[in-house]
Amino acid sequence: MASPASAPDIAGRLEAVCDRVASAARRAGRSPASVAVVAVSKGFPAEAVTVAQGAGQVDFAENRVQELRKKAPQVHGVRWHFVGRLQRNKVRDVVGLVSLVHSVDRIELARDIAARACDADRVQRVLVQVNAGDDPAKAGCTLDEAPALVRAVRDMQGLACEGLMTIPQLGVDPRPTFARLRHLRDDLRSDFPEVQHLSMGMSNDFEVAVEEGATIVRIGEAIFGPRPDPDLQPPAGGSFDRSSALPAGRT
Ligand SMILES: *Cc1c(COP(=O)(O)O)cnc(C)c1O
Repeated sequence: MASPASAPDIAGRLEAVCDRVASAARRAGRSPASVAVVAVSKGFPAEAVTVAQGAGQVDFAENRVQELRKKAPQVHGVRWHFVGRLQRNKVRDVVGLVSLVHSVDRIELARDIAARACDADRVQRVLVQVNAGDDPAKAGCTLDEAPALVRAVRDMQGLACEGLMTIPQLGVDPRPTFARLRHLRDDLRSDFPEVQHLSMGMSNDFEVAVEEGATIVRIGEAIFGPRPDPDLQPPAGGSFDRSSALPAGRT
């Protein structure tokens, strides 16, 4: 098993990622402050989170409820995000613990989160996950379903729908997928001004995502180093098995 990256490694990588995000934002005529970096700590121990936190990182994400529940009590003062497939029977473990759920992709799940949030007297911030690349291996509602789902979610008491999330298909140019999500957000925003965020971009494509309007990038390995457990390779769903590299020349 690979040993965890050292503290200077993580701090240096984090700084490099933030610099690349800032450059991509400027290239697109955007303010670097308009993009939040969420560090995806799945597969890495709580100590890695603490090290990144010491280097100034505030937002962290997990994609499995069990791992989140184990890690969260071991660190203090970070903001957690949930970015994985959420089963309805795990909703109660997530609501209130995380500041933003990125992966609401069906109405039944939204209803359960809303009910739980109301019970706890809170408002849970969520994003609607859209399968904007039409990838059979990915979670997310279709582009066609998205407007109705956003409308339903924003009408639910206990939920605040603040934007959209997507994971592009591996092995294809991610730019058109990111652009589609942005267009959808722009359309929705004219009716629903609170639908602002675009959570898109991971270690291997975050600069493209920022150029296409990402307001949140979700970055694991580019910050923490190679993930020790291959079972936790991103994204949940196992599509990394089919192809591990993007085509050359995609930039
Ligand atoms: C794992 C994961 C990421 C981060 O992936 P990296 O390639 O390590 O940057 C981002 N989003 C989701 C939903 C993930 O599961």
